Amino acid sequence: MNVSELGQWIEIQLSDIEATLIEFVNMNTFTANEVGVDAGMDKLSRLAEEMGFVIEVINGRHRLIKAIKGDSKPRVLLISHMDTVFPPDGEFLEYEELGDGFVQGPGVGDIKGGMLMGLWAMKAVCELADEYNVQMIVSANEEIGSPTIRDWYMNENINADFAIGLEPGFPQGELTPTVDLGVVYQRRGYGAIRFKVEAKASHSGTPHLGLSAIEAMAQRIIKLHELNEWDKGISVNVGIMQGGISPNTVAGEATATVSFRYERMADGEATKAKIEEILQAEYIRNEEISVSDRVTEMVTEAFIPPMEKTDKNMKMVDIVLEEAKRLGHPVVPIARGGGSDANFVSKSGTPSICGMGAPAQGIHTTDEKIYLPMMFERIDLLASTIYRLTEEGI
Ligand SMILES: [Zn+2]
Repeated sequence: MNVSELGQWIEIQLSDIEATLIEFVNMNTFTANEVGVDAGMDKLSRLAEEMGFVIEVINGRHRLIKAIKGDSKPRVLLISHMDTVFPPDGEFLEYEELGDGFVQGPGVGDIKGGMLMGLWAMKAVCELADEYNVQMIVSANEEIGSPTIRDWYMNENINADFAIGLEPGFPQGELTPTVDLGVVYQRRGYGAIRFKVEAKASHSGTPHLGLSAIEAMAQRIIKLHELNEWDKGISVNVGIMQGGISPNTVAGEATATVSFRYERMADGEATKAKIEEILQAEYIRNEEISVSDRVTEMVTEAFIPPMEKTDKNMKMVDIVLEEAKRLGHPVVPIARGGGSDANFVSKSGTPSICGMGAPAQGIHTTDEKIYLPMMFERIDLLASTIYRLTEEGI
């Protein structure tokens, strides 16, 4: 088969792909429903085996699906996951046709549509190329930051030459049959630190006997928000704050969580250090009772690397855009705020792009839907891109 025959080849498999998508969407694979996620993984493994691929179990619950022939070609890693954000006792459980090619269901866009696009693109590359090395990693818990496979991503196990994330292709506006879809060349990193400020509680009628943790918290928040540097892609926000026990009490304790985003790892590390310095400084003191405010708890709840914009990422994007143009697909390069597992892979040094999955809208909500004809077409785009990387590199 050659690349120009891909469209026809996909056409023949449409009913298979659609039937498989329905089966996967109707299986509940909420992250915390580990039995459901594992059942999804077993089903995926059987399907991949039938297609002639080799399966490796990673860290007990994740899967690496491999299509390898010969040893002359660069290794292309597709990134996907099995879990969704929809619990089994919730209201959003089934695949449903909305008409005109639109379908909705839990995980249909994030990421089961993309996962199957990856599988069929791998199958296509086996038909197109004489030698190839295409693999797909499928995380069991991406929606909570892939805690049990994160280390695997960031060490040399990856050893891939290129990585392609199968997160949804983001429509630049309402999802319609002609809307532009974004291919992601950059994702910002994300950090979150929860902390507790302690001072000294007293009756509000005798404030000289206390020291207000709310005041001490307010001073910190002002300093933290001064760290925002939008032109450098750094944002900092205290999004949750609690403190005090009644209007009539000088608050003895207050807690908050500060989150921050950054385009470059170096900025992330510098911002984290500045935040910790601000939190640990002393702001107010009551000499009468010899008490100063202090931070007694400081927990880093997240510190995820960014997928940095690099020359090699942009070269991968160029290939996608060239292939999209050839196929007549509306695709535009975009940066995204949110993280995905491509962030971890990118940190390992592998040139990476993301957003090559199904055209989706309303992901993580009960309106999550995709436009099926475009998803089918995008298997062509994905397979052509992998084939170009396989044959030409960048
Ligand atoms: Zn996802």
